[in-house]
Amino acid sequence: AKNLGRNQYRMYNDEMNRRVQERNALEKDMRRALMADEFLVYYQPKIDLNTSHVVGMEALVRWQHSNRGLITPNKFIPIAEQSNLITDIGEWVLEEACRQCQEWSEVNELGKLQVAVNLSASQFKYGDITGTADRVLQKLTMEPGCLEVEITETMVMNDADAVSQALHHFARRGVSISIDDFGTGYSSLAYLWRFPVNKVKIDRSFIKDLLHNNEAQAIVRSVISLAHSLNLVVIAEGVETKKQLEFLQKLKCDQAQGYFFSPPLPAASFVEWVKEYQE
Ligand code: C2E
Ligand code: CA
Ligand code: CA
Ligand code: CA
Repeated sequence: AKNLGRNQYRMYNDEMNRRVQERNALEKDMRRALMADEFLVYYQPKIDLNTSHVVGMEALVRWQHSNRGLITPNKFIPIAEQSNLITDIGEWVLEEACRQCQEWSEVNELGKLQVAVNLSASQFKYGDITGTADRVLQKLTMEPGCLEVEITETMVMNDADAVSQALHHFARRGVSISIDDFGTGYSSLAYLWRFPVNKVKIDRSFIKDLLHNNEAQAIVRSVISLAHSLNLVVIAEGVETKKQLEFLQKLKCDQAQGYFFSPPLPAASFVEWVKEYQE
C-alpha cells in the first residue's frame, strides 16, 4: 500500500510538472506571438431589436498560431491573465478594434458603429487601460461613445477601487460601460448604482433556457425591468433561435447578439455580412 501511495504521488507530481511546463511554454509562445503579430480580432454583430439595425460589434480575440492553427481565447486568455501578458494583449485588441471600427465607418460607410472590447481584471490592476484608451481615441479622432468596454461583476468585486476609478474615468470621457455575463456573479445589483454603468448583458446561460425554464424566464424578465428602471440598455447574448429572439422582443429587450444573427467573423467577412444584412 505504501508503494502504491508513492506511485500515485509520483504520477500526480508528474502531471503537475507537465502542466506547469505546458503553461510556461504557452506563455513564452504568447510573447513571441505578440511580436510576430499572430493575434487577430473577430467581430460579432449586435442588433437593435426595435430597428433591426446593426448597432455595433463585440471584438473577440483569436490566436492564429504558426503551426497549431486557430486558438480560441478560452485556451490562452486565462494563462495570459496569470502572467500579466493580458495587459499587452488587451491593449493591442483595444487599439486594433478601434482602428477597425473607425475604418468601417469612414472607408466602408457602414454607418456609426460601436465596438465593444472585453477587459480583464489585471488590466485595471497592472495596466494603464484608461491611458491607452485616451491615447487611442485621440490618435484616431474617434468619438468616445463609439467605444464600449465589457467588464464582469466578478472583476469589480475583486478590486473595487482600481476598477471604480477607471470606470469613472471612462464615464467622464463618454466611453460606454457594459456589465458582461450579467446574473452569473454576486451582488450584481449593488454595482449597478455604485458604478457608472450604461448597459447590462444577460448571460447566455439564461437565454439558453429561456423558453423551457420558468426560473430563467423570471430572471430575464426581472433583469430587463430592473435595467430599464435604472435607464440602462439591455442586451441578450447567445441568441441562437428565432423563438428566443421573438420572446426577447416581447420582453422589450433592447439588443441581441448570437449565432442566430452571426457567429464572430474575421474582419473582412464582417463587412460583407453587414452589407448583405443591410440590403
Ligand atoms: P464572452 O465575452 O462572454 O464572449 C461571448 C462568447 O460566446 C464568445 O466566445 C462568442 O463566440 C460566444 N458566442 C457568441 N454567440 C454565441 C451563441 O449564440 N451561442 C454560443 N454557444 N456561443 C456564442 P469566444 O470568442 O470563444 O470568447 C470566449 C471568452 O473569451 C469571452 O467570453 C471573453 O470572456 C474572452 N475574450 C475574448 N476576447 C477577449 C479579449 O480581447 N480580452 C479579454 N480579456 N477576454 C476576451
Ligand atoms: Ca464579452
Ligand atoms: Ca458574455
Ligand atoms: Ca457569457
